[in-house]
Amino acid sequence: MASTAPYRIVVAGGGTAGWMAAAALVRFLGAGFTVSLVESDAIGTVGVGEATIPQIRMFNASLGIDEDAFVAATQASYKLAIEFVGWTKSGRYMHAFGEVGRDNGLLAFRHTWLRGMAEGVAEPLAAYALNNVAALGNRMQRGPARTARVLPEMPYAFHFDAGLYARFLRDYAEARGVVRHEGRIEAVARAGEDGNLQALHLDGDRRIEGDLFLDCTGFHARLIGEAMGVGYRDWSHWLPCDRALAVPSARARDFTPYTRATAHGAGWQWRIPLQHRTGNGIVYSSRHLSDDAAAAALLAGLDEPALADPRPLRFTAGRREQCWAGNVIALGLASGFLEPLESTSIHLIQSAIERVLTLLPGARAIAPLRNRYNRQAAQEMERIRDFLTLHYWANDRDEPFWRERREAPLPDGLAEKIALWRASGEIDREDGDLFSDVAWLQVLAGQGIAAEGHHPLADAPPAAQIAEYLDLIAKLNAREAAQMAPHSEFVRAHGAADAEIAA
Ligand SMILES: Cc1cc2nc3c(=O)[nH]c(=O)nc-3n(C[C@H](O)[C@H](O)[C@H](O)COP(=O)(O)OP(=O)(O)OC[C@H]3O[C@@H](n4cnc5c(N)ncnc54)[C@H](O)[C@@H]3O)c2cc1C
Repeated sequence: MASTAPYRIVVAGGGTAGWMAAAALVRFLGAGFTVSLVESDAIGTVGVGEATIPQIRMFNASLGIDEDAFVAATQASYKLAIEFVGWTKSGRYMHAFGEVGRDNGLLAFRHTWLRGMAEGVAEPLAAYALNNVAALGNRMQRGPARTARVLPEMPYAFHFDAGLYARFLRDYAEARGVVRHEGRIEAVARAGEDGNLQALHLDGDRRIEGDLFLDCTGFHARLIGEAMGVGYRDWSHWLPCDRALAVPSARARDFTPYTRATAHGAGWQWRIPLQHRTGNGIVYSSRHLSDDAAAAALLAGLDEPALADPRPLRFTAGRREQCWAGNVIALGLASGFLEPLESTSIHLIQSAIERVLTLLPGARAIAPLRNRYNRQAAQEMERIRDFLTLHYWANDRDEPFWRERREAPLPDGLAEKIALWRASGEIDREDGDLFSDVAWLQVLAGQGIAAEGHHPLADAPPAAQIAEYLDLIAKLNAREAAQMAPHSEFVRAHGAADAEIAA
């Protein structure tokens, strides 16, 4: 006989991961489930994580959240791209969301562009990406392009205040029935044979029982690491930055609809403009840069005065050997960490939540679901790891840190991908890869890796026709961007938290 007792899901941790998970679970699981969340104000959250990628819009929309209300509640700004400055000697480029150019039947745009480059009639890739052109002009628009027949709609994401987002989702989740317990998890109770968790013991002699536990306790990994003893796969030989300092500064006059990632002698520095302040941070390798020197570099690179002292964070790039062990699934920082160079961590939470909902065990046999979950989670992180590693490897800087990166062996899949691009202009997108061909294209080209060939179909039209085609796309992009609203004006109309958004 089927059990009528509710299936109890316990979320441990109330940072971005915990509240995203609780909000989604309560939204999508109906009667028959209970969701509770444990968090400790005394421990607090990591307090960073402000730049996102466009998929976050789907998450918010699936919860029925009004976008303008969310932008206002989280002091958000809009994000069209990430600008990379100083990663090579030739300066700067953007990884913009969305399309670059227009494919021609079977022929991917990159081949037409490569032919154009070979003929000397093409501009840098940036001119052919609407998001890139709009971002550089500090412009923003949502909805179909004016020339919708030819140009795509611009995908966008947000920069937001992570603390305010967690608060926003907490209100959402509690209003729909999630029960919050404030307190520190001091011990866990495990069942005999399979070693599954039965309950969390909180300070004050409280016991929270559950059937499934989501470990969202951040770097503490209180359940997956401490209780279940699952190890950590260290990727620092590929991504050696192991420290960060984060500091807010006064609201930027240059209110850009993009994140900036500026390379320095032993890592890079981020700049994330929000409505009420700018989020800044420096990511570095402690083998190459002292904490004091990092703090000095961070503060020297701010546009506006700092609003607080820099806050230190330590991490090791890598992932949990298994994100799901027994009846514990790790989400967020408890499941692994890849530095925020491509703003992927919050997305990894989102996709883990989708996977939890899809593979939710209930009364079913756990092992096959768990194996599938773990395979998919590993693959997803490995692809992102490769994408980040590419940024570091393909550099022509002179400092010891960067020379080391250039000489370090690459993960196998990445080495093959680079070789394929170099020889043929092809991009092999592997299963589970979050990043599109066009994302890889922008970073491969932006980091200065030249393709020596292109598809033979791109050789068919005469050079003049290629030039005309490329010129048309560039002109349409420029014209479309010119009629968009300035970013600050757009925020004022769509989610201003107060009347005084930087002009
Ligand atoms: C330097 C840096 C920059 C980043 N930038 C970005 C970015 O731009 N974009 C992006 O997508 N991501 C970014 N991230 C990642 C992002 O911050 C995290 O993915 C996100 O904040 C989720 O964190 P979390 O909820 O897993 O952990 P946390 O925010 O640390 O939350 C952990 C929760 O668990 C609770 N907890 C822990 N132990 C216990 C216990 N024993 N008992 C009870 N409660 C407990 C804490 O109180 C807290 O509520 C960045 C991370 C770092 C380190």
